[in-house]
Amino acid sequence: MTYMEWFETHAKKHAEIMKTLTHLSDDEVIDYFIYENMQKRHPDFCPLYAKNEKCHEMQELNCYLCGCMFFRFSDKGLKKEGDKTFYSLCSINAKEGKTFESDGSVHQDCSDCLIPHKRSVIKKYFSRDWKEVMKQTIGAS
Ligand code: SF4
Repeated sequence: MTYMEWFETHAKKHAEIMKTLTHLSDDEVIDYFIYENMQKRHPDFCPLYAKNEKCHEMQELNCYLCGCMFFRFSDKGLKKEGDKTFYSLCSINAKEGKTFESDGSVHQDCSDCLIPHKRSVIKKYFSRDWKEVMKQTIGAS
């Protein structure tokens, strides 16, 4: 699955779940998206749920902003530096962000960054429309 395919599929899954949560407050919606609850109620939301694995080991992992509003991606490349093409990057240059390279392609590696999974960050950027929060992710530079 390409990143674009993942993005559209995830947006649909997120929107379907949100349709069932209209009776909840914003704080209750954020609670609902805590890893353990999502794993139990929506086992198909993330392939890691079936393996009982988390993308990040943290005390309270929240899946609401999975994908991260600071991630930027373009399959045409976002920028070039010498012979390297950057296909993804972090718009805030988060200090825990890293990159990995192969054959002149550079990709953002968010494996050490917890920012979008923290309740305080989710509250700050919260919208009931996941795509609205993520609207700058695709093709932005
Ligand atoms: S935040 Fe991590 S565990 Fe949750 S849905 Fe995204 S990849 Fe899966």
